[in-house]
Amino acid sequence: MCEKDVAKSEPLYIHAVICRVFWMPARKYILKLCLLGDGAVGKTSLVRRFVFDVFDDKYIMSFGTKVSKKTVVIGESNVDLMIWDILGQRAHRSLHAAYYLGATGALCVCDLTRPETMESLTSWVEGFQSTAGPMPVVILGNKSDLPRAVSHSELKSFGARSGSDSLETSAKTGENVEAAFDLITHKMTEAIP
Ligand code: GDP
Ligand code: MG
Repeated sequence: MCEKDVAKSEPLYIHAVICRVFWMPARKYILKLCLLGDGAVGKTSLVRRFVFDVFDDKYIMSFGTKVSKKTVVIGESNVDLMIWDILGQRAHRSLHAAYYLGATGALCVCDLTRPETMESLTSWVEGFQSTAGPMPVVILGNKSDLPRAVSHSELKSFGARSGSDSLETSAKTGENVEAAFDLITHKMTEAIP
């Protein structure tokens, strides 16, 4: 390419950059994310903190499913997250497969003040992946603002055993809530065929 060609192609290059930044449609995904875990671990509170940036101390037991939507930007992609908040009652476990269908990922939540809620995540993850397939999950140890009964390293090694990342969150203070949703969204976009 001679100098004249470069001079000619420069406006074209600038035009291409402007198109990319301002007019080229970003990739857009609509992805289903499930929240799993025992009752009262803080699933609904985490969704409320992430979507509305609020926290409420009252415990309202959820029956059925609530779906909330929030758009997350990952690089040049816009992801519309459809967040399915599933009831935590073990008695209704057989119904859960219907909620898992079509999900690309899950946030699996336990309560750092109750170690048994972490142990039961093993069966939550199994149940989820047996219906949804080998989709990514992230383990969340919630209520990090309270005196804990699960240590940092116990949560980490539990996550490692299930082949997942883990994070400590507080729906009350907001600690790591955005980071948790960003991390699972990132993993979900990587899992899309
Ligand atoms: P879910 O049954 O898993 O949806 O749990 P909820 O979100 O309804 O929360 C159960 C209870 O734990 C409620 O009283 C919440 O206010 C409380 N809670 C949830 N997350 C936190 C947290 O991060 N810190 C503290 N201190 N309390 C929390
Ligand atoms: Mg709930």
